[in-house]
Amino acid sequence: MRNEVIDLRSDTVTLPTKEMMDAIALAKLGDDIQGDDPTVKELEQIAASILGMEDALLVLSGTMANQIAVMVLTNRGEEIIVGEDSHLFNLEVAGLAVLSQVQARPLAVKDGHYSTEKIESMIQQGDIQRASTSLICLENTYNLNQGQVLSLENMKEIKNLGEQYFIPIYLDGARLFNASVALNVTPADICQYTDAVQFCLTKGLGCPLGSILAGDKAFIKEARRMRQRLGGGMRQAGIIAAPAIYALEHLIDRLQNDHDKAAYLANRLSTLEGIKLNMDDVQTNIASFTITNTNWSADRLITYLKEKNILVKKIGEKEIRMVTHYDLSTKAIDKVIKQFNAIFQ
Ligand SMILES: *Cc1c(COP(=O)(O)O)cnc(C)c1O
Repeated sequence: MRNEVIDLRSDTVTLPTKEMMDAIALAKLGDDIQGDDPTVKELEQIAASILGMEDALLVLSGTMANQIAVMVLTNRGEEIIVGEDSHLFNLEVAGLAVLSQVQARPLAVKDGHYSTEKIESMIQQGDIQRASTSLICLENTYNLNQGQVLSLENMKEIKNLGEQYFIPIYLDGARLFNASVALNVTPADICQYTDAVQFCLTKGLGCPLGSILAGDKAFIKEARRMRQRLGGGMRQAGIIAAPAIYALEHLIDRLQNDHDKAAYLANRLSTLEGIKLNMDDVQTNIASFTITNTNWSADRLITYLKEKNILVKKIGEKEIRMVTHYDLSTKAIDKVIKQFNAIFQ
């Protein structure tokens, strides 16, 4: 009831639940730069344990986690392999070039599958004219407009390749738990195939801010220093950690519900004339479609839906993205379907 508007633009639009606000109010706090915030420490331990990693670090955002990871794992003038539609490559204000001074070599990723052959062909080592490859970056779920799930086999294959060439793997797992729920495996099952990983507390988990970066002890020790360099060292950060602990303990399993809602919504829309929506692409909580009806552009559809209190996101002239999350009831989804039926039938 908090929100009359049905907001499908992203899973980041959720507001903290009452339990999260209570957790914030009751959190034990201290100066985290001095290592004195017990709630942050507890969160970092819980997160490391869920991921099966040695250590973890609370940072302000997924972008900050990604950039810190690359800062720690590369040297100036090296090259890293990234998915061509990845967040790291497209949506971080050229942080790779500015902060780490590395060159990105983008890789086409088809249907959430990274080709090991292609990655191997991109690896460069020791050539007099070429930058050496020092990091392979994966994203799972892949592509913020699709949410496709990388299989464990694919991740394992790439991890093996990395080991063969002594190149670490970094996983941008902004929506890692959506991947683990979709695959029906534990987050640690996924993270066994990466050297470092981040996930967002602000997406399916619904926290007001924060991301977790995880890896081995030496990685996190240096990541903590790089966080400080970026001005991301925090004092009484337990107010961020407290709702995160709540979310990790209570909100992971319910992500299946978001996936079910996305599939339900997508399924109904896929039957409409004037919309092209491939159900194979709807693997988690994201459903994107192309408008094929010549009378409707993304802009026109967005304006029309907005008048009905429904918000969706434009991702192309004829393309729209919808993301499900815990602030959407089944009734709300039915309302959306009704509007689409009215337009396209
Ligand atoms: C959202 C997202 C990020 C960035 O997270 P912010 O907290 O918004 O900085 C990074 N990678 C992927 C894949 C994302 O979806």
